[in-house]
Amino acid sequence: MLSFELIEKHGNHEQVVFCHDKDSGLKAIIAIHNTTLGPALGGTRMWAYNNEEEALVDVLRLSKGMTYKAAAAGLNLGGGKAVIIGDPKKDKSEALFRNFGAFVNSLNGKYITAEDVGTTVQDMSYVFMETPYVTGIPVSFGGSGDPSPYTAHGVLMGIKASVKHKLKTDSLSGLRIAVQGLGNVGSHLVDYLIKEGAKVIVADIDSVKTKALADKHQLEIADPKNIVTTECDVFAPCALGAIINDQTISNLKCKVIAGGANNQLAEDRHGEALRELGILYAPDYVINSGGLMNVFVELEGYSSDRAFEKTQQVYNSLMEVFKIADEEGISNQKAADRLAEKRIHSIGQLRTHHHGRTARPFTTLKEMTSRQK
Ligand code: NAD
Repeated sequence: MLSFELIEKHGNHEQVVFCHDKDSGLKAIIAIHNTTLGPALGGTRMWAYNNEEEALVDVLRLSKGMTYKAAAAGLNLGGGKAVIIGDPKKDKSEALFRNFGAFVNSLNGKYITAEDVGTTVQDMSYVFMETPYVTGIPVSFGGSGDPSPYTAHGVLMGIKASVKHKLKTDSLSGLRIAVQGLGNVGSHLVDYLIKEGAKVIVADIDSVKTKALADKHQLEIADPKNIVTTECDVFAPCALGAIINDQTISNLKCKVIAGGANNQLAEDRHGEALRELGILYAPDYVINSGGLMNVFVELEGYSSDRAFEKTQQVYNSLMEVFKIADEEGISNQKAADRLAEKRIHSIGQLRTHHHGRTARPFTTLKEMTSRQK
């Protein structure tokens, strides 16, 4: 399929920019899906795509996802994403990332980039040499550093909202919570859950990681093959995507699914199926938005306290999602989409009524630019 046909098919984006630099070998695509709520923010993925079409479809899909994530999180950000075509192990150079930074800069703040799969803080510090429109830069430059404690804190808020809605309790004390994946997000989440008095069951395919965390808190360990179907109050997926699929769904023994992993449902229809089974599902892109909130605070002038405070919004957003789902008799995943679309529509109207002027989306990009000096 041709590029323009693909763009129309995958979300009719506001702008798609192809970036090419002969000397550094840069081949990148920046996709800006929607900027109604604010500048389009989303990371830069570096991947050895098999062909250009694969890269274009990926960036179109990911940038649309960012529009929904920012909107449902209540942030004044639009959705965007970039991909660099290349092998992150072999094809990186200072010149490549500085060239990419120059392309980002040419968009004058309409797109703000960050790290993603295949890119690092070091790569972003090269981008930062050419443009202020980048987040996830080193802490020493005023950046926000590792987002995972904030993502995990948002997930904790999401578990609290889910438990309140489903089990009618404000406390996690004594609840059995099964955490799959003990990486950056999962391990922080376990620490938070223990503080709340939950009975935590853990599993990771990395047995060294599992033992270290289990020893630290005296936790029950489950076989990674069985954690999905462990009997528990809350199942918190914090590893890979597509964990709710045709094979697992009929064997689930939890009342709530609320965790940090991306793309937890193999297909949308699994969201409907969970609703029919009476299992409350906290839509992934709402519950794991704490990392994005952390980056957003970076745009305002970073404060860790403010970032943690912001992650509390996950509780309110999910309560709103559950309300919409109950009122309209739809899956929570669909309700999250409605919440995001409703916000984009109403704030878009506000802009129209006020001739495109809005109040401060955040401290201003000008102040952000001054960080560089
Ligand atoms: P990570 O790589 O640090 O941790 C993932 C962990 O899952 C690893 O320890 C890995 O061994 C384990 N794992 C993989 N397959 C498993 C399996 N089948 N069973 C049990 N454990 C398994 O990644 P992370 O940064 O903690 O992210 C976890 C998830 O959360 C991902 O889906 C990621 O996209 C999503 N997410 C992360 C952030 C963030 O701030 N890091 C933000 C939003 C979403």
